Amino acid sequence: MIACRCGAAWSGASIAHCACCHRTFSAVSTFDKHRTGTVDRRRCVDPVTVGLAPNRHGVYRTPSA
Ligand SMILES: [Zn+2]
Ligand SMILES: [Zn+2]
Repeated sequence: MIACRCGAAWSGASIAHCACCHRTFSAVSTFDKHRTGTVDRRRCVDPVTVGLAPNRHGVYRTPSA
């Protein structure tokens, strides 16, 4: 089990938790989707606006069609 100071906890090495906005993502690939801007001005966007949706555990992933 891995835990963050925000109170989020998860297991699984593929899970990516954002230290900036404290959302949890299913994989690095979905994590990358919610990061935008140039390299020196990276910021987070609402994952929903980039096509992601949280599952029942609050983990954002690409919704299955
Ligand atoms: Zn973030
Ligand atoms: Zn956190």
